[in-house]
Amino acid sequence: MTPTLLLSLALGAWPAPADVEPLYPDLEKLYVELHQNPELSLQEEKTAARLAARLEALGFKVTPRVGGHGVVGILENGSGPTVLLRADMDGLPIEEQTGLPFASKVKAVDKGGATVSVMHACGHDVHMTTWMGAATLLSRNKEKWRGTLMMVAQPAEEIGSGARAMLAAGLYKRWKKPDYALAFHVNPEIPSGRIEHVAGWALANVDAIDLTLFGRGGHGARPHETVDPVVLAARVVLALQTLVSREKDPGEPGVITVGSIHGGTKSNIIPDRVKLQITVRSYKDEVRKALLDGIARIAKAESVAARSPKEPLIEVTDGTPATYNDPTLTQRMAAVLGKVIGDRNVGPYRPIMGGEDFGEFGRAGVPATIFWLGVGEPRAVAKAKASGQPLPSIHSPFMAPDRGPAIRTGVVAMTGMVAELLRAP
Ligand SMILES: [Zn+2]
Ligand SMILES: [Zn+2]
Repeated sequence: MTPTLLLSLALGAWPAPADVEPLYPDLEKLYVELHQNPELSLQEEKTAARLAARLEALGFKVTPRVGGHGVVGILENGSGPTVLLRADMDGLPIEEQTGLPFASKVKAVDKGGATVSVMHACGHDVHMTTWMGAATLLSRNKEKWRGTLMMVAQPAEEIGSGARAMLAAGLYKRWKKPDYALAFHVNPEIPSGRIEHVAGWALANVDAIDLTLFGRGGHGARPHETVDPVVLAARVVLALQTLVSREKDPGEPGVITVGSIHGGTKSNIIPDRVKLQITVRSYKDEVRKALLDGIARIAKAESVAARSPKEPLIEVTDGTPATYNDPTLTQRMAAVLGKVIGDRNVGPYRPIMGGEDFGEFGRAGVPATIFWLGVGEPRAVAKAKASGQPLPSIHSPFMAPDRGPAIRTGVVAMTGMVAELLRAP
């Protein structure tokens, strides 16, 4: 008997790790199927159908095609609160290089018409499998809880639009607005068997800006007859960093990265434009606004200073909104996790500037929290820490979750959290 199992038995917590064992072979099968059949964002048709069929077989009332390929499964079980459990379904345009026997060989046509390889490199296959495991355990043990379980399979997380699309399709109007929302995201830095949490701001606002600066082209040897947009762009790139270092409260996180800069064709030709692509990260809405407004202000003012013939073109693509983990709910759930997977397997994680559109479900006034589910093979994680050589991260072609322990832990944890929120009288 494992120490974790002993502990949960001692505390009488449900579920015990042993409760997952009868389900596990089927969950492993589901995981492999999902992993071998990844679909790109907005193309999650077969994945959605697979999940919908399984939920239906478990007795859920299932509605497909909610905000694209989104699936909603409802299981009512007496009076009590409603808990939303969210899993995301999309894969990434990455060619898998893990060498696993069940590695994805899938190719698909992306929205630009290019044929690309597809891989579940962000672990959404793990999310769906643990989610289905929790749905299975809860539907088979209805005496353990009272209330409504709302299973949400979300499309298009990787492009930051799926959660918004499901909410716009009436997720909180066609069905009851949930009292709580929960999710996992895999994390290869954390050993499998362990779950970490962040109370408060956990993931950032993500905005993408395409900025075009205009000049007047001409011969490289006759700069006085031109307006050089390359020099203008260089000024803008440096000035943008002052928004972070000089204008923002140093205690408030924010990042501006110019990730791409393109202009010109040849050394002796001054081009007529330079295009910059910028990512902007923040937590608070007011910081986000100050950074976005500041980028526009600097681009316009530097263009004037450079005698640019035209105002810059600034195109902002809304990315994902920041994720705020409700602190009260997070602490309450962390205590439950300690009971079902053992206190030593639960701990805090740091806020990061990555993005996740799960935050949308909480923005609508629902206490929500997303946990980091460890998927790193424990010895490999220890070795990586000792050597300073990180393991392949999410979005890497080498990302290979330690699926057995991670899925088992995720199912016990998610089920235990729901059982606590929907505690039977
Ligand atoms: Zn991702
Ligand atoms: Zn992801």
